[in-house]
Amino acid sequence: MKLIDLEAQQARIRGHIDHNIRRVLDHGQYIMGPEVQTLEERLRAYVGVKHAIACASGTDALLMGLMAYGVGPGDAVLTSPFTFIATAEVIRILGAVPVFVDIDPRTFNMDPAKLEMAITALRSGKPQQYPLPRLSAVPRGIIAVNLFGLPCDYEAIRAVARQNNLFVIEDAAQSFGAEYQKKKSCGLADIGCTSFFPAKPLGCYGDGGMCFTDDDDLAQKLDSIRTHGKGSHKYDNVRIGINGRLDTLQAAILLAKFEIFAEEVLLRHKAAQRYSEGLRSSGRLSIPFIPDGRTSAWAQYSLLAQNERQRAQIQDRLKMADIPTAVYYPRPLHLQSAFAELGYAAGDFPVSETSSQRIFSIPMHPYLATEDQRKIMETLSLGQPG
Ligand SMILES: *Cc1c(COP(=O)(O)O)cnc(C)c1O
Repeated sequence: MKLIDLEAQQARIRGHIDHNIRRVLDHGQYIMGPEVQTLEERLRAYVGVKHAIACASGTDALLMGLMAYGVGPGDAVLTSPFTFIATAEVIRILGAVPVFVDIDPRTFNMDPAKLEMAITALRSGKPQQYPLPRLSAVPRGIIAVNLFGLPCDYEAIRAVARQNNLFVIEDAAQSFGAEYQKKKSCGLADIGCTSFFPAKPLGCYGDGGMCFTDDDDLAQKLDSIRTHGKGSHKYDNVRIGINGRLDTLQAAILLAKFEIFAEEVLLRHKAAQRYSEGLRSSGRLSIPFIPDGRTSAWAQYSLLAQNERQRAQIQDRLKMADIPTAVYYPRPLHLQSAFAELGYAAGDFPVSETSSQRIFSIPMHPYLATEDQRKIMETLSLGQPG
């Protein structure tokens, strides 16, 4: 059994993928070939926004988003400590300061009430109101992370952003295909950033990513930043940019995968529903909570054990039954050595800290067999009272 089964998907569409790859080898436009534009147009239409800018990874998508806003030294960007390192890494790479905001214990996403507290504390420079980094900085924007595929509470987050004149970037690396109030993820903030890392809901066979926006000016900047800050032509450079392009070959692979993506999202919903129905009454494990008006892309199906010890016991038991599990994420970002200079301490973000000790993910992908799910749920409920 696998956490994520990419082989089952490939077996389904191998012919289409081979055909698309061969077409790229025939035309030879490996950089910014026609497949890149076609992919941008298809995904743009799917998300329902005006512009899509393909790029080399989810990390680059976030970096380009911050660069489009001119983020740099002296700026603070508020984000979650319960995420993959890339989310906060891109802030620091630009010399800006990540300011962490604890999560909601039920959704694992940024808590909008705490966001407001953090901004107030930051503006008044009072860490006794909310834990702040040691480096001083002025709030510029927010990166909201849709963890495990579930969109954040964008109505609340955007209201706080409006009041404080901050931009909002959606880290939708895990949530392509999810919805919030009938709108697709990647179109829920000023810029939406996703990743096509192989294990994400829509993945390629290497690294890839995309930015989405409704704003013409931002779109033009993102396009320029993606290609070394180009101006009217390649050797006219009007700003500092990066080599952030998506390979034509990856776009060709994604075009084949996108054909079946909507169906795969439905298959993920069905698998998640079977898990949640089976595990709801299991007592000591808490199942994912999906608030009204939202759907998850189910990048992960994550459960909370009672404590770290129980989690280890459950993971061992599953491992003996040949069922893989993973922990996303075992250490919140404010406790990573890479961010030691921020001066955060254990206890600053208690919800993220306890979640990192209790959370674990079980196999989730569109081709998960019902019998495998039954075996997983039976193994999970062994040794549980009630
Ligand atoms: C995967 C991921 C990223 C980075 O995407 P890459 O394509 O691997 O660079 C960023 N944020 C989150 C939340 C992710 O899960």
